[in-house]
Amino acid sequence: MSSLANNYKRKNISFKRGKGSFLFSNDGKKYLDFVQGIAVNSLGHSNDKLNKAIQEQSKKLWHVSNAFKIPEGENLASKLVKRTFANSVIFQNSGAEATETAIKVARRYFFSIGQKHKTRIICLKNSFHGRTIAAIHASGSKKMTEGFGPKIPGFDHFEFGDHKKLKKLIKKNTAAIMIETVMGEGGIKVIPNWCIKGIRKICNQKKILLILDEVQCGIGRSGKFFAFEYSKVKPDIVPIAKGIGGGFPIGAVLMTKKVAKAMVPGTHGSTFGGNPLAMAVGSAVLDQINKNLLMNVNKMSKYFITELNKIKIKYPRLIQEVRGVGLLIGLQLFKDQTEFIKKLMENKLLTIRAAENVIRILPPLNVKKKEIDLALKIIMKVCKELS
Ligand SMILES: *Cc1c(COP(=O)(O)O)cnc(C)c1O
Repeated sequence: MSSLANNYKRKNISFKRGKGSFLFSNDGKKYLDFVQGIAVNSLGHSNDKLNKAIQEQSKKLWHVSNAFKIPEGENLASKLVKRTFANSVIFQNSGAEATETAIKVARRYFFSIGQKHKTRIICLKNSFHGRTIAAIHASGSKKMTEGFGPKIPGFDHFEFGDHKKLKKLIKKNTAAIMIETVMGEGGIKVIPNWCIKGIRKICNQKKILLILDEVQCGIGRSGKFFAFEYSKVKPDIVPIAKGIGGGFPIGAVLMTKKVAKAMVPGTHGSTFGGNPLAMAVGSAVLDQINKNLLMNVNKMSKYFITELNKIKIKYPRLIQEVRGVGLLIGLQLFKDQTEFIKKLMENKLLTIRAAENVIRILPPLNVKKKEIDLALKIIMKVCKELS
């Protein structure tokens, strides 16, 4: 019996070591890891530069309170600001904390300009913004909220694509629209550019804020630094996490100057958020998310998706759709994906499920072509076995 709680249905496998795209199990087998901690290890396992950064920082200073200046945090924040729409950053430790903070910032902004009635956030039904009490109610999923007490007020939901409903939901007390630019857990659904543009326009007309959750699709995963860059819109608030830490827990909220002004001393805090150790690692990750790496993401993505579509044509009764952007790829089956994922694992390829029968494939951003070829070979073999 495990002393760990049973809130995960864990696969009977564990690992002792990882390098790049590969994981080595405790029973001596080598796996191609296209989960990467769910889009967390953006640079693969045991990245040399990240190892160096964490070792060097760990000898100097791990943690100090945010009551003091933290130059490592100033440094990472200024790098993020330089590369993005944002003027200001608040550091957290996880994605759920980042989306919660985004909600707080939106509400506090309207409070600070004397419109404290504006508190409601409009979200997509069955989206994913994390597992804290507010985030599960933002996500609007029955499965996640059931049994966890009264509904947290302040969230309205519309279905993917139902723009009429979205417009109807905007009332005097609406503060923001919050969506994932690419729905990850929800089944790798890319929100079309025209749609994001339309939502931005609605936000401008109604004078409400746009929050784009880039916790999973951000930091290069989409082939651009942020997935919303494809639509050329400028959001007001962007929560990030997963990829920015490269495996170290970091979350953050990026904001424009306009909304950041509301976050005066005392409005928000975090004991761990922005500590020197996390900031040193985040900074070393960010330095490697450069033009060349993004080019690799785009090149590998194009190749992978093209080849997966060829497999789909070969097995039209098995694979329904290949979708995604960059190295956030979904393989949607016609039926439940559990067996397929199990067989991939038996053949030493690790993938993970998403909603709507989707197999989620998340290689590290520095994945090599020969690793994708290996994955394709395994996927092909499993298709043959299952058809
Ligand atoms: C994973 C995820 C979160 C939650 O992140 P945690 O670090 O697990 O709290 C929030 N939003 C999106 C889009 C995610 O993919």
